[in-house]
Amino acid sequence: MANSLVTWSFPTKIVFGDGALATLGDHTRAIGAKRALVVCDAGVVKVGIADKVRKVLEAANVAAMVFDKVDPNPVLRNVTDGVAAFRSHGADIIVSVGGGSPLDVGKLIALKTTHERPLEEYDDAIGGDAHITSNVPPIITIPTTAGTGSEVGRSGVVTLEATGRKTVIFSPYLMARVAVLDPELTVSMPPRVTAATGFDALTHCIEAYLALGDHPMADGIALQGIELCAKHLPRAVEAGADLVARGAMMKAAMMGAVAFQKGLGVCHSLAHPLSSEKNMHHGLANALCLPAVMDFNNAAVPDRIERVRRIVDMTATSLSNGIRTLREKVGLPNGLAAEGITKADIPKLADKAIEDACHRSNPRSCTRDDMVKLYELSL
Ligand SMILES: [Zn+2]
Repeated sequence: MANSLVTWSFPTKIVFGDGALATLGDHTRAIGAKRALVVCDAGVVKVGIADKVRKVLEAANVAAMVFDKVDPNPVLRNVTDGVAAFRSHGADIIVSVGGGSPLDVGKLIALKTTHERPLEEYDDAIGGDAHITSNVPPIITIPTTAGTGSEVGRSGVVTLEATGRKTVIFSPYLMARVAVLDPELTVSMPPRVTAATGFDALTHCIEAYLALGDHPMADGIALQGIELCAKHLPRAVEAGADLVARGAMMKAAMMGAVAFQKGLGVCHSLAHPLSSEKNMHHGLANALCLPAVMDFNNAAVPDRIERVRRIVDMTATSLSNGIRTLREKVGLPNGLAAEGITKADIPKLADKAIEDACHRSNPRSCTRDDMVKLYELSL
């Protein structure tokens, strides 16, 4: 067959720009919502953003209740508490505000308000999406970081005791009706968080571009996202109030998540256990593993790697070196050892990494032994 059957979709409405938060009332009005559960975390409350969102909603005659009990690595209790808050408020819409965790939990709260099965039965790894119907309350997402792209994603990640791991729950019905991208909401992010989350966005774009599969639209979006990261991440880190750099990184993060519907790669499989086992920031884990993965993938997709090298750093001798230079420029460490990972940790990390699904779309197939080597090269 010359052209195998594929599906391409880009349906989220995205409103972008400085002060975009002020448009929130237009969206709740268009949806016809009257009572909002604002899902966020303690950090979003602390910097005053939860309060801003509540005021914008109230000015639009939407009664808002703020729910901030979302952990950095979300667990089942965050979802069940959120469902209880949604019911006690009589909410008819979820407005999720924050980084990846509140945006993910918002989707899962929405799901569980109408879906009776225990959360583990919706696990994407066992085909749980088949149980998810369109009967889910509307969701609006408002990111305050520029990394995960969860604002346009269709999955939520939660650690469940029943599965013993980070569990991905995926369905097109979990997508936001509107994503409101306001660069002003990201200026309070400290430099290191900006650098780490920005590297997550960069990794999404690069892994999506290199992933197996026929998706020229995702490829184009990924390449443009890589360029935005390479150009603007250093400035966003060094001058946090620069709205041009902040806006560019918000676009890149959103574009990374749009592009990775094509798939991710082995870097994400290496990164996930570093977070679940070692509590490492997800973006940082990607930043530390990405160079070794690029050298590994070079054997399979040299032309694509070369194209990315030219975008990331024209002067670098290899893509991996270009990434190392960028990583240093934004102040991130140069290896896993700097974060306390030792050789003795690697066997267990590799056991978990090989179970992770992301590497299945990596352009070069990857064994557990390869993963051990990649961790060693990333130390
Ligand atoms: Zn990621």
